[in-house]
Amino acid sequence: MRTLAILGATGSIGTQTLDIARRYPDRIKVDCLVVHSSAEKLFELVREFRPSVAAMTKQPDSIPEDLHFCQWFFGEDCSSRALKAAKSQDALCAIVGIAGLDAVWTALDVCERVLLANKEALVTGGPLVTANAARLNKPLLPVDSEHSAIFQCLQARQGNPVRRLILTASGGALRTWDKARIAKATVDEVLAHPTWKMGRKITVDCATMLNKGLEIIEAYHLFGLPEDKIDAIVHPQSIIHSMIEFEDGATLAQMGYPDMRGPIGYALGYPERLPYGAKPLDFASLAQLTFEAPDTERFPCLNLARAALRDSDSAPIVLNGANEVAVDAFLNRYIPFGAIPAIIESALNICPTKQINNIDDVYETDAMARRAALDALGRFL
Ligand code: NDP
Ligand code: MG
Repeated sequence: MRTLAILGATGSIGTQTLDIARRYPDRIKVDCLVVHSSAEKLFELVREFRPSVAAMTKQPDSIPEDLHFCQWFFGEDCSSRALKAAKSQDALCAIVGIAGLDAVWTALDVCERVLLANKEALVTGGPLVTANAARLNKPLLPVDSEHSAIFQCLQARQGNPVRRLILTASGGALRTWDKARIAKATVDEVLAHPTWKMGRKITVDCATMLNKGLEIIEAYHLFGLPEDKIDAIVHPQSIIHSMIEFEDGATLAQMGYPDMRGPIGYALGYPERLPYGAKPLDFASLAQLTFEAPDTERFPCLNLARAALRDSDSAPIVLNGANEVAVDAFLNRYIPFGAIPAIIESALNICPTKQINNIDDVYETDAMARRAALDALGRFL
């Protein structure tokens, strides 16, 4: 039996993690739940899982009488305080955005293993987070499907060098659209992801293809390969979740129908696998797996991410912060979809390179990026 903290318990990843936990009650004890503002949903989960700690950044008017058995925390820093109080063995970090960095940082200190869905924590705090994980000798297990796929393939490495990582991308909702139409895509069109059902922010990131850029940065930090050895390929069926290539050209792929319970279960049970009722792949009915090179002319965000990664430790923080501002403005229908890459590029051009020595430097750079993005955003209102 292992105890588990779920940060972002009401989200897409959090909900699917709870689905696995329900299937394995004698292996997984959910003992800490953290969310942002979904009070009613959290109350239901606390009733069901009876964790020792629960937390929300937004304080509700009251806590139902029957839920006073657990320790509650509220406020911006509630995830760190909740983790310290619960001291769970595992932390599944699935808060969206840089807002989840604090939880990852604290989880490395207080938990035995960190199961990482929150890619923005690595994009922004990558060098610090991985150095801390190494120093504390804490495993950082990937939950993002591509990184889980690579991690699974790497189990067969047996000391051999890897020549290349190949991340697959669905191509997002606008994959086949022309540039002019992409620029005017509506929120509903962008959120209609062809293969995965995910939270709103990451679904927008898939449509701009910045998600793949963030994932290249994430892979860089997790697996320690140089940027030019991390490729991305569009694979619209989302059956191959990613690949590794050895020096002799042998390429290993991890495959399955798109379902995040695969990678979540792999991280939870690692090194054991936790079956969750996944259907066997029916190759005959799939018939075709197709691939195409990413079109960086129509989807410029991928190159912005690569350039940021090559530039400095601070540029990926700027890329991420500006993107969070732009995506939020798009989802609130203040700006057109086509403004997102322009806002990110503008913030990258405006913000000077900063030395990143500690977490405070990360947050300062993020704040600078947000100011630059807000300035750029004005042009599109
Ligand atoms: P969702 O938007 O569905 O869920 C986000 C969760 O985080 C919610 O529980 C939300 O609570 C909570 N939350 C948001 N802000 C805060 C905060 N400041 N403090 C505490 N809790 C907070 O996101 P996803 O589940 O889609 O994504 C989560 C992370 O996982 C992202 O980094 C994403 O990139 C990554 N990821 C997601 C995949 C997916 O399939 N969804 C696949 C691969 C990676 P509330 O409900 O109260 O708002
Ligand atoms: Mg992914």
